[in-house]
Amino acid sequence: RSVIKEVRAREEIEELATKLEFANLRLKQLDEAKSDFLSIASHQLRTPLTAIKGYASMILEGSYGKISETTKGAVDKIFQSSQRLVLIIGDFLDISHIEQGTMQYDFAPLDVRELAKSLTDEFKATIESSKEKSKALKISFEADEKENFSVSADRNKIRQVVSNLIDNSIKYTPGGFIKVSLSKISETGNVLLKIEDSGIGISAETMPNLFKKFGRAKSLSSIYASGSGLGLYVAKEIIKAHKGKIWAESDGEGKGSRFFVELP
Ligand code: ADP
Repeated sequence: RSVIKEVRAREEIEELATKLEFANLRLKQLDEAKSDFLSIASHQLRTPLTAIKGYASMILEGSYGKISETTKGAVDKIFQSSQRLVLIIGDFLDISHIEQGTMQYDFAPLDVRELAKSLTDEFKATIESSKEKSKALKISFEADEKENFSVSADRNKIRQVVSNLIDNSIKYTPGGFIKVSLSKISETGNVLLKIEDSGIGISAETMPNLFKKFGRAKSLSSIYASGSGLGLYVAKEIIKAHKGKIWAESDGEGKGSRFFVELP
């Protein structure tokens, strides 16, 4: 009887294994279909969006005649929202490339100081032109003059990561400061970029999901509806491809955040 039992158990296991294998295959196919869908949908969305953004910007510049301040305000909102959508679609495209393993990296010598400094200046201009943030928020850049911050990296991809981090710190800091700084880790010679803000901070509950797909703080969604929760996931994949590290620290909600990127 025990032999029969054992044979039956083995048959059941074999059957289960076949089913599991089939389910796995099906999941893989679905996953690929999802990536294809993301990529096609994103490409199709891009063209009309470029038109919306382009025309909004031309109206703002006065190419279609003078417009009232009220109209200007409305068109500016169209422009800003389409700009956000462009970034989100970019994230979707990146994710489908990452998941299909077709993300391309062009490695070349990159001066991280020059990149971080010019991005800080660009964002400084954005803050200064913003009604609600110009007075309340100060952004600064700091790096040792004598150090060399050259790494081998894909310039556009690293630019995207740093830009995303600074953009986040502005988004999630109603007032106070943002400090972008560069240093060298003496033991390894690695370059360490730190972006520190005095903003809303990160709860211990949110922290573990931060760099996951669609990882957003729960309390956020209603206040900061425009985020997708994809930026940090893409950033992590990009930094991984550079054999670097990216992480975040915060002393808790309301106590600001610190984001770090380490590049070899
Ligand atoms: P998004 O900002 O589009 O929601 P991200 O992937 O860039 O997506 O960020 C994920 C989440 O991490 C955000 O929704 C927010 O909860 C949190 N976060 C990111 N940067 C900061 C920051 N500087 N301060 C506080 N929270 C942040």
